[in-house]
Amino acid sequence: MSIATLAPDYIRSIMAYQPGKPISELAREMGLLESSIVKLASNENPLGMSSHARDAAHAAIADMARYPDGGAFALKAALCRKFGVAADQLVVGNGSNDILELVSQAFLAPGLSAVYSQHAFAVYPLATNARGARGIEVPAKNFGHDLDAMAAAIEPQTRVVFIANPNNPTGTFVSGTALEAFLDAVPRHVLVVLDEAYTEYLAPEQRYDSIAWLARFPNLLVSRTFSKAYGLAGLRVGYGVTHASVADLMNRVRQPFNVSSVGLAAAEAALGDDEFIARSAEVNRRGMAQLTRAFAELGLEWIPSAGNFVTFKVGDAVGVNQALLRQGVIVRPIAAYGMPHWLRVSVGLPEENARFVAALKQALA
Ligand SMILES: *Cc1c(COP(=O)(O)O)cnc(C)c1O
Repeated sequence: MSIATLAPDYIRSIMAYQPGKPISELAREMGLLESSIVKLASNENPLGMSSHARDAAHAAIADMARYPDGGAFALKAALCRKFGVAADQLVVGNGSNDILELVSQAFLAPGLSAVYSQHAFAVYPLATNARGARGIEVPAKNFGHDLDAMAAAIEPQTRVVFIANPNNPTGTFVSGTALEAFLDAVPRHVLVVLDEAYTEYLAPEQRYDSIAWLARFPNLLVSRTFSKAYGLAGLRVGYGVTHASVADLMNRVRQPFNVSSVGLAAAEAALGDDEFIARSAEVNRRGMAQLTRAFAELGLEWIPSAGNFVTFKVGDAVGVNQALLRQGVIVRPIAAYGMPHWLRVSVGLPEENARFVAALKQALA
């Protein structure tokens, strides 16, 4: 008998997260040069990172023998200045994935449940199942969150609702007005996790101030990341803003040194570089137009996206994906999200988008 059979059933039934294929792996598999590969699979910033963040990371490397500041004092101070919140409302995580895990550690257990949408970010069921809690998956409406149905799905045992806005992998967006109405409808025993990993990419008319809502909703947590628009996915830094009592619980269960000193320094510097974020959003806006124009020309269906990626329908997603990989182009199959006929592509630089479009034409021919 293997000791693995003694792990709880809810752990043994977990399916591991499937990340985008790394460039080095495809290079090995296909005998391609790494420099010839275009990776548009993980919603990374094609501009890289802000030069301020790179300088801060380099400077931090000089002192790697010391533990990081587990209280993240300097990064929290910068976040407090930017958002007008108090330091005790903040939780800093090893990526915002860590924030989602900390929520589940603090609030979920066997006998309790979490509500999330069909086609929503894969970490919600993972974090829920890892606690032995029950996941309630609510059918999507037009590939996006059906907030009325989600509110109706809440049961007395529900402790958490996860909402990604925009959602990954569908790119769907719900308005600030709809979210506020949802928060009004949700009972106060349920923590609403508003995952805003792509908020920096929203068009001006889509923007809403969820952090201002914290004053009215003590059961709200807003989660953000440095992995997407800030271009620091490799450093793993994210944060949650919430009520001080919620942050306190999450800070009790997190690892004392969950974010590296290089990550903390780079994130603090990145936060001050508004010009880089504006440029990233502009590159994304143009790239999104370039991609959707190509889908229209090819007669492909796509889901209008508010993020830095777009999901499109090809039918034989396995075959088309293989044909793209053979040409050195990595996108993301999303069968695990219940969308076996679709692929998700991240918006790249103009030349990367063009490489993808050319490869897609080949793949479909
Ligand atoms: C990418 C992503 C995250 C988190 O990524 P981290 O790198 O862990 O910060 C969170 N939520 C959604 C919806 C995402 O797409």
